[in-house]
Amino acid sequence: MNQFLSVVTHGAQVIYVRAQLSSLENQFQIQKGTLFIMATKTPITVAHGDGIGPEIMAATLHILEAAGAQLDIETIEIGEKVYLAGNSAGIAPEAWDSLRRTKVFLKAPITTPQGGGYRSLNVTVRKALGLYANVRPCVSYHPFVKTKHPVMDVVIVRENEEDLYAGIEYRQTNDMMLSLKLISRPGCEKIVRYAFEYARRFNRKKVTCFTKDNIMKISDGLFHKVFDEIAAEYADIENEHWIVDIGAAKLADTPEAFDVVVMPNLYGDILSDVAAQIAGSVGLAGSSNIGTSCAMFEAIHGSAPRRAGQNMANPSGLLLGAVLMLVHINQMETAERVHNAWLKTLEDGIHTYDIYKDDVSKEKVGTKEFADAVVARVGQKPSQLKAVTYVKQDGEASEVSKPATTNKAAAKKEATKETVGVDVYLDCVGKSPDEIGRAIEALNGDGLKLELVTNRGTKVYPDGLPETFTTDHWRCRFLSEKAIEHKHITALLNRVSEAGFDFIKTENLCTFDGKAGYSA
Ligand code: NAD
Repeated sequence: MNQFLSVVTHGAQVIYVRAQLSSLENQFQIQKGTLFIMATKTPITVAHGDGIGPEIMAATLHILEAAGAQLDIETIEIGEKVYLAGNSAGIAPEAWDSLRRTKVFLKAPITTPQGGGYRSLNVTVRKALGLYANVRPCVSYHPFVKTKHPVMDVVIVRENEEDLYAGIEYRQTNDMMLSLKLISRPGCEKIVRYAFEYARRFNRKKVTCFTKDNIMKISDGLFHKVFDEIAAEYADIENEHWIVDIGAAKLADTPEAFDVVVMPNLYGDILSDVAAQIAGSVGLAGSSNIGTSCAMFEAIHGSAPRRAGQNMANPSGLLLGAVLMLVHINQMETAERVHNAWLKTLEDGIHTYDIYKDDVSKEKVGTKEFADAVVARVGQKPSQLKAVTYVKQDGEASEVSKPATTNKAAAKKEATKETVGVDVYLDCVGKSPDEIGRAIEALNGDGLKLELVTNRGTKVYPDGLPETFTTDHWRCRFLSEKAIEHKHITALLNRVSEAGFDFIKTENLCTFDGKAGYSA
């Protein structure tokens, strides 16, 4: 859209205004010859959720309004009622229209009904809207909130779309279940770059990466490799990598050693809860889910149904989620006012039941009273806790959400791929490893030769050990000295089937620029 604003004046009087401005539409008025430009309201979508959701959302919106947030709110229904009305995703089709229109979603927690068949709303929304980064600041508020880690200030950046959360699972045999762990180069590039951009923008000094690439050399290995490649582009930010097990132990023991920590989805899911809990309480953390066009903001806790309707719940997690939203939509002064008023309230000892402690708290309050206390402090700053400042960014939305295509890594040429073999998985009972190995070896052909048979990843043929425990799930690896074609694999499968074996899955073995793309 072409944008313009023309104002014709006669002396001090405005006599004519014509405007077409995307961000100022309907936001100006002429009254008695004076042009008033009204503050721009940002459209957002709000869901009040289930359990304690409606109470903490009401408290949050009350505080945002009192602090002068300029929001144009569209309300949608999600959660338990929608699930129980027969929508297995927990979100009505028309709600998507609002989310696509506003692109900003402030979401209260919801209750997922018990029993099978209900899909996780969070996972659905994250995947459908491409919210690839989950960001959780985990801060301790010593001495006002009890914690063993008084100087903790860690931001967990969790990859949000891939890994085991692809939700692709199979029962392959009577005894064996499979979950697919998917890690892609673009997925790694997006999240790692996001972590470094976040660090740069919020003046963080170090980005740490956690993976388990000593075991998962290909999938986690890629995450680590991409981390190293992208880290090299950010010379101003320190970087380091930890194996996730010892890294997690260090994070739980010495969180002050960390600043921004980026990791694949599953580790991030677990460790962001650990980090929030050791900071003081999961009830105090908010999070953002960022995509290239949409973003969702929420508390990290659930709907706490046992506390619902009692004016007891702590609205802080959702309120801090809303602060992240204000930063995202570039309403920095309001974000600062809300955040500092909240810090001052904590510091003044006005606490909900979950963080109330006789020796540090002054007043135990309910949800509404806590919100009123924050509202009464709008404009004030904490005196002992560190006050926050947010710097306004150029442009409309300020949050880092750069697509990954800008980086050097993505500019690399495609590797040359050759298929050099196939792993054939069998469901087989009642045969020994040697019987299976010998029978399968007899099916070699078209250059494909049986290299080995494994059971749960351990070699059992040739030269297996009698002590190795085996299940009904066998992998037969065929390799060829030259590249093979699909027809060679289908011919092999026909021979396997004709020999009376039940093959349940195949996995092509490929090289990329001559390097093996499969585990040894
Ligand atoms: P929960 O986070 O709701 O509650 C865990 C504990 O923390 C409870 O003891 C609760 O009383 C307390 N608690 C949580 N938030 C609090 C707050 N703001 N103030 C004071 N105390 C608080 O976890 P749960 O009990 O395992 O799950 C309850 C429901 O929430 C389930 O249906 C679950 O599926 C859902 N859930 C939703 C989300 C979400 O919408 N993002 C996230 C997690 C769980």
